[in-house]
Amino acid sequence: PFEKSKGQHILRNPALVDSIVAKAGLKPTDTVLEIGPGTGNLTKRLLEAGVKAVVAVELDPRMVLELNRRFQGHPLSSRLKVIQGDVLKCDLPYFDICVANIPYQISSPLTFKLLSHRPIFRCAVIMFQREFAMRLVAQPGDSLYCRLSVNVQLLSRVSHLLKVGRNNFRPPPKVDSSVVRIEPRKPPPPVSFKEWDGLVRICFNRKNKTLGSLFKQKRVLELLGKNYKTMQSLQLAQDAEMGEEKMSADDVALLANMVEDLSMETGDEKEDDEMEMDDADMAGDGAATFKEKIMGILQQGDFAEKRGSKLSQVDFLYLLSLFNKAGIHFS
Ligand code: SAM
Repeated sequence: PFEKSKGQHILRNPALVDSIVAKAGLKPTDTVLEIGPGTGNLTKRLLEAGVKAVVAVELDPRMVLELNRRFQGHPLSSRLKVIQGDVLKCDLPYFDICVANIPYQISSPLTFKLLSHRPIFRCAVIMFQREFAMRLVAQPGDSLYCRLSVNVQLLSRVSHLLKVGRNNFRPPPKVDSSVVRIEPRKPPPPVSFKEWDGLVRICFNRKNKTLGSLFKQKRVLELLGKNYKTMQSLQLAQDAEMGEEKMSADDVALLANMVEDLSMETGDEKEDDEMEMDDADMAGDGAATFKEKIMGILQQGDFAEKRGSKLSQVDFLYLLSLFNKAGIHFS
């Protein structure tokens, strides 16, 4: 009766459920958001941990029925609220902390949905597919370091808590899992997300190319050139400098949409338009000087020979600030 399409893999190791709850550091005043409670093994332990409330969002009406039956007459049932629906589509309720064994197919959009939620929650302790978890915590130079790592780490501190083998679930999934802690940064970084993700997207377009060659691509120069002209004609260049733009929930929500297309296997090495711009190509309309301008900015920060896969958060922030100061924008 378990549905693969809904990622229904039930945790069947009580010791593991206990250690997930222990790692969450729950307080008696906490409202806990649980996503995909399934048959309620984790839900039960969360209630017994003595929190103020558990709000559980479950897609499958059969599971909701089962949950309600399981907790009917339970002494703590008044602290449980089950919402039937798709967590990606519904408005999230207020919560202090999120604890969840989620269906893996929603990992990326869910992570960004949580990170864009306001007010900012204290922490999330979530079971992910191992590879996704390792991407979340990857550092510059690690083989799994990617756009997802950079974007999530801009918004939060992420740490790996537990390795979980597939046999802890019934039915066992095809992959191993890991429990990760995500603590949103408070206050959020004073960066426009559209700008940040626009830059990061270019830098990770080909993992092993230098920024010098990535920014020479026709597609990239055309995009930046278009943004530049728009900015100039609106005379917004100065006001929109980095540092003055504060992150808004809208920015993050937008980012969430953008990363939905971030496919784990193919994201980094997509073979699309790889054309590089010749100076001659654009000489006519003065765009060759625009290319020089971009190359000049990269050289100014000593970035031309570097690769996105080796850049830290601070490097990306610095690079973004150099571009923005020169009136170059990514959104
Ligand atoms: N928490 C339970 C456990 O640990 O035993 C079950 C976890 S199971 C991996 C994922 C659960 O999420 C399933 O019960 C499934 O029906 C539910 N689910 C799948 N997609 C969902 C969505 N978009 N929104 C909310 N729940 C969803």
